[in-house]
Amino acid sequence: MTWNLKIGEIKETYLTEQQIWQIFNTFFSPKSKNTMTYKFGLIKSLIENLYNVNENLELNYYQLFESFTKIYWNLVVHHQLRQSNSSSMNSGIEKVLVNFQKEREIPNDFRFDKLPYALQLELVQQVKKVGKKYVIGALYGDSRGVIYEFDLKKEYMKMNEPVYKFMLKYQKVLTYLTNYHLALFLEKYNRAENTVQMLMKVENVSKRSSLDLFYNMLISFGQKTCFYCGKTLDGRTIAHVDHFIPWSFVQTDQLWNLVLACRSCNVSKRDRIAKEIFLDSLIERNEQLASSKEAIIMKEFKFYQSEKLQNLYYYSIVNGFEHQWSPNK
Ligand SMILES: [Zn+2]
Repeated sequence: MTWNLKIGEIKETYLTEQQIWQIFNTFFSPKSKNTMTYKFGLIKSLIENLYNVNENLELNYYQLFESFTKIYWNLVVHHQLRQSNSSSMNSGIEKVLVNFQKEREIPNDFRFDKLPYALQLELVQQVKKVGKKYVIGALYGDSRGVIYEFDLKKEYMKMNEPVYKFMLKYQKVLTYLTNYHLALFLEKYNRAENTVQMLMKVENVSKRSSLDLFYNMLISFGQKTCFYCGKTLDGRTIAHVDHFIPWSFVQTDQLWNLVLACRSCNVSKRDRIAKEIFLDSLIERNEQLASSKEAIIMKEFKFYQSEKLQNLYYYSIVNGFEHQWSPNK
């Protein structure tokens, strides 16, 4: 049992890709006993935060548990899915979420991002407290101590470099694997849903209900034309918030990966990445945004570096995304 570990050091710093695959394969195999879904939720949260590490590959727990809370709020409250294999017992995280919802009388149809920001903050702190206790050590043990190291007295974990690089490179397939196994587990312990329906819920569990927040930030920063074709944008109905690197790959909303596009560019681009010339424009745009003194924008750019965006672009191509799209003029 490792769930109650207080400190875990990285066991091995030299690992081949084959060795890392073995660790993930064991993790997803039926041999790995899961009494609840925590480990899947934590892997999903790690993937979402691959671009939020600092130069020492440290990831702070607030960031990590913000993703974790969002995922579990949407699973437990929004979709009302049981997370444990026991019908008589709720997991610690479920208790926190359900109590929070009841005390504040929040309706089930609220997705996490619809909660007022102050409530999100409060809830993340509560989930973090339980998550630090039960989740961090468990995945550490299951992965034989190679994914990250941690010390619960500190407020961050540190990723193991070869595993970090591996996760960047294979993030798409790892996302699929995690979603699939999470859906299988949930299907087993929640009635009346088949795997396909469950998988759709799981795949969208990280998605926000709206990108209006980012629309407002980009508009307030003065973007008035389509990032791709230059057409003037007037009004929210005409402007779409576009994930420059498609959402299906990044699975997260980062301001530095978001642009405003006209409807026709957004629809025509779909799930593809744009030509490299647009990457250059986005790096330039981000340099300007990063110099903003507005707190909300500074928060979004806290871990941004242009190299991260370049890597993301590169890794999306490695993961099979086309990079040929450019607007019809
Ligand atoms: Zn356009």
